[in-house]
Amino acid sequence: MRRFGRASNVNIGATGRATGDGAAGACSGQVGQIGSSVQQHRLPDVAAATLLSLASRCHARGWAQATSGNFSVRLDARRFVITKSGLDKGALRAEDLLVVDLDGNPLTDGRPSAETPLHAQVYRRRPGITAVAHTHSVAATVLSRALLAEGYVVLSGFEMLKALVGIDTHETAIRLPIFPNEQDVQRLATQVDAELGGDDCVYGYLLAGHGLYTWGTSAGEAARHVEAIEFLLECVLHGRR
Ligand SMILES: [Zn+2]
Repeated sequence: MRRFGRASNVNIGATGRATGDGAAGACSGQVGQIGSSVQQHRLPDVAAATLLSLASRCHARGWAQATSGNFSVRLDARRFVITKSGLDKGALRAEDLLVVDLDGNPLTDGRPSAETPLHAQVYRRRPGITAVAHTHSVAATVLSRALLAEGYVVLSGFEMLKALVGIDTHETAIRLPIFPNEQDVQRLATQVDAELGGDDCVYGYLLAGHGLYTWGTSAGEAARHVEAIEFLLECVLHGRR
């Protein structure tokens, strides 16, 4: 059952191109070589720096307060690195990150974020995605709860939409799906997978009263998407006041 329909992006302009085309292109990137030895499970410095930068950037904007939020970067076709559970995202160090497989099982020491299954779902379904950001902003939290019955938030007509890959006109509307929140994260990941799968037309989704998941084909693209979507959610929230 899809509460929001398969076509999650709807182009509303006469000249704009289908937003889904660009999003699909975003998922066509290459991934690295598959690591097999224990030695390759060591966390590469570049991946750690990239992930720490993404997390601190979101924390600085107030979107990952009080140990909330989690962030990950793909290492290769079988592994990604993610923040450990319950840590201050404004004071993360490389030792606060760990490597997991695409089922979310730790490959290095530590306990991964409780929401690792939701990151794993994205990496399994979208081979071109190399970074995932999950934030707990006020706008995402309030809007997702207020609009849960509708099943999505519409982001439409804003210039900032052009920050999303594949969109080149403000005359565009995208629908950001909303899922009910759930403490059984594995079950939630199964539900997201069943409803979104690897749908390339979706830039992210919301968990009601909880926050945003979004991603990109690079850490830079993921950072741009999280900033753009958070901005757009704030616009919608202000518009409802
Ligand atoms: Zn969360």
